[in-house]
Amino acid sequence: MTASVVLDERLRAEIQALEARALRRQRRVIAGSHGARINVEGRQCINFCANDYLGLAADPRVAEAAQRVLRDSGTGSGAAALVSGYNHEHRALEEALADFLGAEATLLFSSGWAANLGALRALVPPDAHLCADALNHASLIDGVRLTKAAYTRVAHADAAAFESAVGEAAGAAWMVTDGVFSMDGDHAPLSSLAAIGARQGAPLYVDDAHGFGVCGPGGRGSLAAAGLSHAEVPVYVATLGKALGASGAFVAGSRTLIDYLVQKARTWVFSTAPPPAMAAAARAALAILRAEPEHLQRLHANIAQFRRGAAERGIPLGPPEGEASDHAIQPLVIGDAARTMAASAALFERGYWVAGIRPPTVPEGTSRLRITLSAAHQPAEIQGLLDALHEVLMQQAVAA
Ligand SMILES: *Cc1c(COP(=O)(O)O)cnc(C)c1O
Repeated sequence: MTASVVLDERLRAEIQALEARALRRQRRVIAGSHGARINVEGRQCINFCANDYLGLAADPRVAEAAQRVLRDSGTGSGAAALVSGYNHEHRALEEALADFLGAEATLLFSSGWAANLGALRALVPPDAHLCADALNHASLIDGVRLTKAAYTRVAHADAAAFESAVGEAAGAAWMVTDGVFSMDGDHAPLSSLAAIGARQGAPLYVDDAHGFGVCGPGGRGSLAAAGLSHAEVPVYVATLGKALGASGAFVAGSRTLIDYLVQKARTWVFSTAPPPAMAAAARAALAILRAEPEHLQRLHANIAQFRRGAAERGIPLGPPEGEASDHAIQPLVIGDAARTMAASAALFERGYWVAGIRPPTVPEGTSRLRITLSAAHQPAEIQGLLDALHEVLMQQAVAA
């Protein structure tokens, strides 16, 4: 047998084992633009699982900004930013982001995944002790592993647990957390964590992929929502592929921090700079966010309508532990993976696309429907989803 046959055999056995536990994952192909109404495998449905919270991924003004730069500057950036790939569009976006957030400087990465791996590895020394929330995003977990520092997994969103973990680390601690948790929609206790950091000299690293553009005044994110300035939180990461509807990510911090990352963040130094057109798209989306507060208002009205309607119908929203979400991410925990996927399929039959989320993305026994709201949803569509959810959950209860 050739090595490739042997390899395939092992891989096939692992895929079959996943299948047997209802954990095999599959992609669906969409056609046309991304949005609240979406064409998936030949049928039109309402999309309730994207992170395009403000409906900007299909905004023609964002696409036009990208088209203009595509025409003028072509597609690829041609090289890493330190070589010849740093276009004035990249710089304009970095400056616009810093100005919006009130941070000294920002650095553009090609993805949130790259930003977390690059920044953590560069910034956290081997003799540090990382205190990281138990429900942090996979990219933070991998970033933490890439550092050579010791690591404590701290109870989820528990400021007291962070305080004692930081205390035990005796001056070497770093705290790492999502701002808004991606599968639960709840918030990190950022003002408490920042206070712990100030008392004990522990830098706080916040990944705000889901808070940026959604939380806080004007969508300035989780720090602004907690009344914190960027000077109080040394490292802030957010992505451009969620609320801004584009692609890529950035780190915001002091000029010194950004200059250090330019020297040391390997996923930035040794990676081709993102397409200039993508930077233009993100900057156009940021300008819309700043100029048109109605998108954010509509998103929050839609979240409120959904939560109210769920309460009226007895639909049990919320993470397995902790507070209910006031964010666009609304988890409906079903528990069992197979039942979760059956509920997702039954909703799809009714024209609603809601992703089922299973381990290892969420802890064993907490498989869930991850419902996400967008400013682009119409009230009638939210009403329709609530009715369909109610029906599907009732049928599952009867069948159980
Ligand atoms: C999506 C996400 C990322 C990864 O960002 P990409 O730009 O999609 O690579 C990182 N952190 C969190 C919390 C996320 O939700």
